[in-house]
Amino acid sequence: MSAPRKRKRTSESSSAKKELAGSADAQSASLIKGGERHTNLWYDDGNIVLSTGNMLFRVHRSILSRHSPVLADITSAYSPGRAASSSEDADIDGCPIVHLMEDSEDITHMLHGIYDYRHYADRKQLPFAVVSAWYRMGDEYEVTYLRDAALARLAACYPTTLAAYDKMQLDDPDRPDRPIAWSPSQDYDVALFAQNQALHPLLRTALYECCAGPPGNLVIAVGPGASLDAGILQRLFVGRGELARQRAQQALSFLEEPRQTCRKSSACRAATKQMVYTAYRVGMLGDSARALDCQDDFIGAAATEGICEQCRALLQSKHREGRERVWENLYATFGIPEEL
Ligand SMILES: [Zn+2]
Repeated sequence: MSAPRKRKRTSESSSAKKELAGSADAQSASLIKGGERHTNLWYDDGNIVLSTGNMLFRVHRSILSRHSPVLADITSAYSPGRAASSSEDADIDGCPIVHLMEDSEDITHMLHGIYDYRHYADRKQLPFAVVSAWYRMGDEYEVTYLRDAALARLAACYPTTLAAYDKMQLDDPDRPDRPIAWSPSQDYDVALFAQNQALHPLLRTALYECCAGPPGNLVIAVGPGASLDAGILQRLFVGRGELARQRAQQALSFLEEPRQTCRKSSACRAATKQMVYTAYRVGMLGDSARALDCQDDFIGAAATEGICEQCRALLQSKHREGRERVWENLYATFGIPEEL
């Protein structure tokens, strides 16, 4: 998955952020003094304090600068032992205070990523909150390895090719080595995240996963009283209907009367009809948006009941081509601008 094209941070925007940081220091010095010191991210030999308003992190300017050109730029205005703002209160134990606009949880995840990367990267599974923060903070502060590590985990759980998606379908979502710990609301959470970050390949797969289950499940998973994003809802309403239609017309088109001639023509035609009855009986023809489900086992079972090898291969290739068309259509299905 490629990173989205994004406005490149300019020196102007860095300066603006620096000014904002300076003025925020001056205005909220007393509040900052009262902030809570982070348990793990408070180093006695740290020489700069990052503040998110309610949380304080005493860290090292040199370490931040090594990992983030943006933090290097922001903190370059502050020298240890002297506060950058005019307020005499704007330092703690001689460490200048830099106020950041992001919330404390995001900054905590970023700093843990910087200071304890191996500890986190070696873990097979991370919570979505960490992965999300690594991508967003990694993008904002140009800590590229955090952003890339987050993208790799997201792509492993929300694949960007049909082949990878099929492979993932064989795995238990609750398995302990899934790169992101699964939760009932995750498909929606990832869709919202991907929409906000303009990660279109990820958005496509997450929206499909939202549609794959009964619509009521999504509302229950997100939680009573939670307001669902209007943009996501619109994509889901339109997309679900479209997926149900494509499932019938593309993915299950192999159930149509075969037109080919084969050596066992009449026997194969009878067996195909029987397959349609079976599909009806097991509910395969009901309302469902699961247009990417692979029915090779179903076709294989029908083959044992009288369809010849030639017809079985034809049905499977028709099914595969139908699913491939559904996959290729997903951007249009959900109204997502396709990346070039
Ligand atoms: Zn045949």
